[in-house]
Amino acid sequence: MENAYKETMFILKKYNISASKSLGQNFLIDDNIIENIVEAANITKDDLVIEIGPGLGTLTARLLEKAKKVIAIELDNRMINILNDRFSLYENFELINEDVLKVDLKKLISKNKSQNVKVVANLPYYITTPIIMKLLEDKLEIQSITVMVQKEVAKRLTAKPGDKLSGAITYSVNYYCEPEEVVIVPNSSFIPEPEVESEVIKLNLRKEPPIQIKSEEIFFKLIKVSFMQRRKTLINGITNSGLMSKEECKEILDKLGLDERVRGENLNLDQFAQIANKI
Ligand code: SAM
Repeated sequence: MENAYKETMFILKKYNISASKSLGQNFLIDDNIIENIVEAANITKDDLVIEIGPGLGTLTARLLEKAKKVIAIELDNRMINILNDRFSLYENFELINEDVLKVDLKKLISKNKSQNVKVVANLPYYITTPIIMKLLEDKLEIQSITVMVQKEVAKRLTAKPGDKLSGAITYSVNYYCEPEEVVIVPNSSFIPEPEVESEVIKLNLRKEPPIQIKSEEIFFKLIKVSFMQRRKTLINGITNSGLMSKEECKEILDKLGLDERVRGENLNLDQFAQIANKI
């Protein structure tokens, strides 16, 4: 029987607790998937790893073996007790009992003065997008984000801009990073089993954005309004938002050789950049 499974059952029984659905707790019990995550994250003894939602500490234990330091951020007090019991003697372990969305990650990273920072997590699915957007938009000095997410979200995050599966977040992710799919994870790899399929993905942060834009604010606003009503044409999305008049928009699309009936999801990153730069 799997070590992670035995460990999870033992801890849940010892502390007499069960998983909290509202906190998105689905504990990993699959040794192979844990190994897949650690391998994909490519952790070395120079790395500071930030783990979001360590839970019972199953993944944390492997990260502690590999990294120079692990900072784990966990909201659930019950988990804090368990993690302190398990890892307080580790010199390379730091635990923060807070909502990850409220943590000043920039400060945390600069305090630790590490050259290589990697984020690794089996994310709580109810806040996957806000967590990923925070990690990207805060412009942190991190190299990669290796995370377990819901499979459907994974497909959107790793889609190529302009693909059928792409949404507004696909463009943001591609602006900041080069995404890759790592492994699809069956529901039976968790206790309790989630209602949706999962996938591990890795986002490799870019040193420079792949396109030149004049204003990030306008660029991201343009993308947002272009996907607000998916079945509307790009012209309608843009003009309804007040970013440009219909005539101006038509003229730009014409210059870019795009059909008037084009939709947001048909454009690539560079085409969005060219429109944004004309606003
Ligand atoms: N890492 C563990 C594992 O793989 O078995 C647990 C993963 S579980 C999917 C998600 C974890 O995120 C839970 O431990 C949960 O308590 C924690 N969590 C939920 N919301 C959080 C938040 N806002 N900030 C920090 N941790 C959170």
